Amino acid sequence: MKTETIAIHALNLVKSATGDVTMPISLSTTFLRDETGGYPGGHMYSRVSNPNRAALEQVITELEFGEETCTFSSGNTAGMSIFQALKYGSHIIAPDDMYWGLKKQLLSFFADKLTFDFIDLTDVDKVESFIKPNTEMVWAETPSNPLLKITDIEALAKICKANNLIFAVDSTFASPMLQNPILLGADIVMHSTTKYIGGHSDVLGGSLTTASKNKFWERVRDIQQTGGAVPSPFDCFLLLRSIKTLAYRMKGHCENAIQLAKYLENHPKIEAVYYPGLASHAQHQIAKNQMKNFGGMLSILVKGDAVDARKVVNSVKIFAQATSLGGVESLIEHRASVEGPDTKTPQNLIRISVGLEHIDDLIADLEQALG
Ligand SMILES: *Cc1c(COP(=O)(O)O)cnc(C)c1O
Repeated sequence: MKTETIAIHALNLVKSATGDVTMPISLSTTFLRDETGGYPGGHMYSRVSNPNRAALEQVITELEFGEETCTFSSGNTAGMSIFQALKYGSHIIAPDDMYWGLKKQLLSFFADKLTFDFIDLTDVDKVESFIKPNTEMVWAETPSNPLLKITDIEALAKICKANNLIFAVDSTFASPMLQNPILLGADIVMHSTTKYIGGHSDVLGGSLTTASKNKFWERVRDIQQTGGAVPSPFDCFLLLRSIKTLAYRMKGHCENAIQLAKYLENHPKIEAVYYPGLASHAQHQIAKNQMKNFGGMLSILVKGDAVDARKVVNSVKIFAQATSLGGVESLIEHRASVEGPDTKTPQNLIRISVGLEHIDDLIADLEQALG
């Protein structure tokens, strides 16, 4: 089956007594045992597993071409479960522009358990020189936030294989519809399902999908099931419902984003546009090779400083001034002020999550805001 079909049909046609066409929400925390002590329904207790979460994990597994998926109550918890599963004293190589919430975890509460180097992963050749005897994992994020940098997944996977390292990719900006890191050699794919997978800015969640089950993955699964930072059955229902339209939402996001990027690239008040679909993007060719399309996220540098950038985000009428991304509504934000005083993000940078409104309305709104 093709991804559009998988998204709609994977595990949704349940054989229930009432003949539901979509999966009902199963709220029970506990499940009946039979005379032999077994669990004929396949579930024991809802922290460990439940029907809605199992269905969600199944469809994400299929969309990412993996063997198994663990879902979590947030993207940050998905990442944290990986860091927790690593042996004490392990060294991690991660991108210098790693999602700040994950980088913050490493720098704060993992600082006395793990060691790390944050480097520019767009320069894949440099990675090998950072590998140490205790290096266990390379963590990549592509496209990255907020500069939309692209890491060559296949090239980095080769380096990780040769050095026996776990290779994890935060693929949130791409969604499973635009990029499948496991097919390019990654071991684990992460998503903040809060973003494109959820797609409507109304549910928080995260996922990890493994290329194959192994000892490390068993630890991740144990952390999920015993720790219990899992999405509720209702969250899983919402995510399953969202996934059915994911392929078509992504088409719309990409279509709008490339048009907006081209419009902004020619605007006299814009200094730079970062969008991997533009020929001017530094890693456009790599993006073309590893992505089916270029996504709905773009960043711009406004000519001027933070004051000029804030003037723009304060003047838009259709774009909502808010953080996050991947929803049907377009969002705009002055990124440096979200990331705090230590940020390396340029002060004149505006990040845009291009939604599914009509492109003419989005362009007209930015036109008036840029004055
Ligand atoms: C949002 C985000 C996360 C964190 O996910 P939450 O669901 O907010 O916890 C991680 N990585 C990327 C790239 C994100 O955009």
